[in-house]
Amino acid sequence: MSRVYNFSAGPAMLPEDVLKKAQQEMLDWNGKGASIMEVSHRGKEFMSVAEQAESDLRELLAIPANYRVLFLQGGATMQFAMVPVNLLRGKKTADYINTGAWSKKAISEAKLYCDVNMAATAEATKFSTIPDFKSWQLNPEAAYVHYTPNETIGGVEFHWLPETGDVPLVADMSSTILSRPIDVSKYGVIYAGAQKNIGPAGLTIVIVREDLIGNTVAPCPTLFDYKVQAEAGSMSNTPATYSWYIAGLVFKWLKEKGGLKGMAEINQRKAEKLYAAIDSSSFYQNPVEVKSRSWMNVPFTLANPDLDAEFLKLAAENGLTTLKGHRSVGGMRASIYNAMPEKGVDALIAFMQEFERKQA
Ligand SMILES: *Cc1c(COP(=O)(O)O)cnc(C)c1O
Repeated sequence: MSRVYNFSAGPAMLPEDVLKKAQQEMLDWNGKGASIMEVSHRGKEFMSVAEQAESDLRELLAIPANYRVLFLQGGATMQFAMVPVNLLRGKKTADYINTGAWSKKAISEAKLYCDVNMAATAEATKFSTIPDFKSWQLNPEAAYVHYTPNETIGGVEFHWLPETGDVPLVADMSSTILSRPIDVSKYGVIYAGAQKNIGPAGLTIVIVREDLIGNTVAPCPTLFDYKVQAEAGSMSNTPATYSWYIAGLVFKWLKEKGGLKGMAEINQRKAEKLYAAIDSSSFYQNPVEVKSRSWMNVPFTLANPDLDAEFLKLAAENGLTTLKGHRSVGGMRASIYNAMPEKGVDALIAFMQEFERKQA
């Protein structure tokens, strides 16, 4: 079977060049007569892979020197707890912005540790908008402000940066990191599970400003302490070595593709043509306000939901897979991360138009 265009929200497609390289190196990595999965994380070979991955990521995101980069496990979900544990620093309250399903999960976990001030919520529009910054009720005493720049399920994305002054800004970038350049210096913490736009599941990247670490709530599990992890080079215990290695290959691939500026141009073009196809037809709909539409996750519905099953079946027969929407939303969702080639989006659009024509 040939490779399909896989629109999964995560674990998602990886670049084919990366998979081929990993395949080539599988049985005999670097002349070791072993795969990289079978060598010590403390050996000098793996250490050099780990360090190279970090330095390539630093270059891609232009991460300032006063930020630590951690390669952890536990997913973005574990960060929902690690963020308050590390960032409260003696304070009792934190600001959260509620833009959908992932924000809500972050909020309920934070409530285990502190008072959550929901500074803004898009609940009233069923999470099809992003509340205007003017309406945010930020608390100057908050330990930090947490938001979700891209809501993977609802398909809403911030195309602007909240300015929170001296209160550290914390971002769950799981489904948008590396899709475009960002100014890391504006953030206190950025975290992301790998399986959307970085690499395989099992790895979580945390980028944290150095002065924010070292003052955790007590008692703090050792592995939850950013400072412990930073001092141990993320090797306080055995890290997700294979995922780390693949992430490193993805970072190299991104550099070859022109870095994040190049990626942003392609991502914007891919998203705009898909939204244009949806908007130009009454057969398909996207519920999100135009200025907050995600470049990465494009949910859409068919005017007649009785056709959903047929749409999904025919799409899969045409090599366009995993288009079923999240169970909480229904309809369809096309996740078009960095690794989704523009040709895949073109093929999806052509299929959608053909499907509509046949039904008319
Ligand atoms: C997928 C996702 C998560 C959950 O990630 P896990 O790695 O499964 O814990 C959290 N936040 C966002 C925005 C996501 O897209």
